[in-house]
Amino acid sequence: MAYQQPALSYSENALEPHISAKTIGFHYGKHHVAYITNYNNLVAGTPLDTLSIEEVIALTATDAQKVGVFNNGAQAWNHSFYWNCLTPNGGGEPSGELGAKITKDFGSFDKFKDELKAAAATQFGSGWAWLVLEGDTLKVVKTGNAQTPSTSGQKPILTIDVWEHAYYLDFQNRRPDYVAAVIDNLLNWSFAAENFKNASVA
Ligand code: MN
Repeated sequence: MAYQQPALSYSENALEPHISAKTIGFHYGKHHVAYITNYNNLVAGTPLDTLSIEEVIALTATDAQKVGVFNNGAQAWNHSFYWNCLTPNGGGEPSGELGAKITKDFGSFDKFKDELKAAAATQFGSGWAWLVLEGDTLKVVKTGNAQTPSTSGQKPILTIDVWEHAYYLDFQNRRPDYVAAVIDNLLNWSFAAENFKNASVA
């Protein structure tokens, strides 16, 4: 079934001054759309067409013949997830069960932030930094290019896109400044709490 791009829950300029309307215009309006268009074209008329995008990602992750389907499908999914990880007036610290679990597994919220910043900064080339639940433990991981944690049995809680197209118009080469701005001002902890709740009961 054709994958539809989810609508943004905020306007394109709502994340300014940290992420500009111009960046969202290209990133959501061009890059993400291209991944979705490519994915839909690649699966159309094939047996994969009857599956959800999550099922296609899982099925194609280790199939060398399907690398194009995987790359475009995983990028389509990763970006839909990323848009929900951002919100105007976000940032701050999570409360409730997720806040307590971060303190338990990382030592403190500041230590978690340091790990996330380090993962984002040290991902060589294009990719993603993630907070995931693996088994019963929260972890920070990074993935290259289109790779996505679900194919490693990890449940995504939050992500930051660290492909250059995510920050170059606003921060040029200063990826750490983009990551800090996202963490401090834009992370959507209520979306993360919902993911944590669902991941914990699943
Ligand atoms: Mn991107």
